[in-house]
Amino acid sequence: MFSFDLQATDGTARTGVIRTPRGEIRTPAFMPVGTAATVKAMMPESVRATGADILLGNTYHLMLRPGAERIHRLGGLHRFMNWDRPILTDSGGFQVMSLAELRKLTEKGVTFRSHIDGSKHELTPERSMEIQKLLGSDIVMCFDECPALPADDARVAESMRLSMRWAQRSRDAFGDRPGHALFGIQQGGVTRDLREESAEALTRIGFDGYAIGGLAVGEGQEAMFGVLDYAPGMLPEDRPRYLMGVGKPDDIVGAVKRGVDMMDCVLPSRSGRTGQAFTRRGVVNIKNARHQDDPRPLDEQCTCPACSNYSRAYLHHVFRSQEIISSMLLTWHNLHYFQELMDGMRGAIAEARFDAWEETFHAERAKGDIEPI
Ligand SMILES: [Zn+2]
Repeated sequence: MFSFDLQATDGTARTGVIRTPRGEIRTPAFMPVGTAATVKAMMPESVRATGADILLGNTYHLMLRPGAERIHRLGGLHRFMNWDRPILTDSGGFQVMSLAELRKLTEKGVTFRSHIDGSKHELTPERSMEIQKLLGSDIVMCFDECPALPADDARVAESMRLSMRWAQRSRDAFGDRPGHALFGIQQGGVTRDLREESAEALTRIGFDGYAIGGLAVGEGQEAMFGVLDYAPGMLPEDRPRYLMGVGKPDDIVGAVKRGVDMMDCVLPSRSGRTGQAFTRRGVVNIKNARHQDDPRPLDEQCTCPACSNYSRAYLHHVFRSQEIISSMLLTWHNLHYFQELMDGMRGAIAEARFDAWEETFHAERAKGDIEPI
């Protein structure tokens, strides 16, 4: 069965456990992104070793290649990608809007052409539910629409109301699937009244969890935190709250402080491939020449393989030489850092010392990277 057990709060920050038939998810949780049935440059057992309890898969990418029906025939997404723990899939709505070509939006859904081969497809709430079921997703997201910000209030309101009608259709199409969860998605941009209207509509329908959508789409951290000051409190207290597509370490800390339980972002894995490492002292650009003679690890307190066994000089060399191990090591380090961040916050909330933890987090980052050799 699917359940959420809220174990402790500290201010508006929360910690708890989501229980699913495929295992427990400790919250606040960070979900690495496995877009094409892989977290790029990582073996699934390595992803697990960083401390991840759950992965995110992308409906849009998987429906186009290799196809949801094919994955279903091959035993479902968990078996296909060799990850037996929980998987959350997005609905495809956001990525259709950001990646697909020749999109046409109607009340029924969206028709579009694939960005891979130009083939024509349709996504509707019903088809999105079907695809996520074929994949075998543990946490299914409602099909929604999200305008890019800035957008005027009328456009945001119209889009939000369409998403609420689609939320009802998603709920109806999802049906009753014990052990699987369906999350609704709050929309409404940065407008409080619209966020309230959206939360009321979703709560009336009733979901296993609630996402805060339509943020981290270019509005900036201040505006995002402005919405997070009130939006989580509009959603049912006894259900997980998921902030989609966030974010940088300081975004994550600010979101958890404001009552968010789950997050996902490509940042740690994507940055790992572009030579950027997240450390407690901020971002390190490993391609910088200052590292070429540096025998010290990226972060001497980090216990990941990149920091335990390799120098900055080596990481610099393999990045500059475009060796595959560069992406492997930096992605592992970054995912490890993000999971350690979550673990630190879970412990701090459980012991009611989140404010002190947050102060140390910001003070360490403010120091900047260690002095060059
Ligand atoms: Zn490390």
